[in-house]
Amino acid sequence: MAVNIKAYQSIKKELDSKKVVLVAVSKTKPVSDIQVLYDMGQRDFGENYVQELVEKQKQLPGDIRWHFIGHLQRNKVKEIATFVHLIHGVDSRRLLVEINKQAARNNRTIPVLLQLHIAREETKFGLDENELEEIMKDLPGLNNVAVKGLMGMASLTEDRQIIRKEFQYLKSLYDRLSLPAEPVLHSSLTTHPLPLTTLSMGMSNDYLLAIEEGSNMVRLGSLLFGARN
Ligand SMILES: *Cc1c(COP(=O)(O)O)cnc(C)c1O
Repeated sequence: MAVNIKAYQSIKKELDSKKVVLVAVSKTKPVSDIQVLYDMGQRDFGENYVQELVEKQKQLPGDIRWHFIGHLQRNKVKEIATFVHLIHGVDSRRLLVEINKQAARNNRTIPVLLQLHIAREETKFGLDENELEEIMKDLPGLNNVAVKGLMGMASLTEDRQIIRKEFQYLKSLYDRLSLPAEPVLHSSLTTHPLPLTTLSMGMSNDYLLAIEEGSNMVRLGSLLFGARN
């Protein structure tokens, strides 16, 4: 039930020492739980549902950095466009275009991460390598979105080797995109090298593995807030 303050303190300290950003995933949890971590200094929070995010944002301090980590529908972008700090789950050009449009309306640039499908489950959202390449080719026209990096979720499995391989794969894509003059995949990017900063991978069950494999942003829910119903 209660926020796990001890876990928060030790995890936060460990992540700070490794320069990994902690996004506290507060979906389904009350604003009072978020306030507890806020009062301890936490500022990055992640939510999955637009309506829930909008409600919580209204009730909580204005300096919280809200991460949208769920699957975002295009017709909902405008509801979070004024304040969202980072959208993690962008998995189509059409969504990117809509985010760009709503960001322009609000005179801002919205930072986003492209979501890669790295898990075995068909159900998980995300781009494959070819779709990633297509989107990257088309970026220059979009002046109000800033692609900051990649996000991915590993398979739901007990097999650590599988999870590790999936994280390694995502890291390899991230590294290739980060390099200005790589051949083939990036031929179109050589004039637009992207300053990528963020590799969002790792959740409560696999964040240590993710960090070993190069993650610099983890999304932790149940470890901090307890299990969800
Ligand atoms: C719910 C969720 C998390 C947090 O999951 P935990 O296992 O509770 O840490 C992280 N990322 C995404 C995309 C989520 O939907």
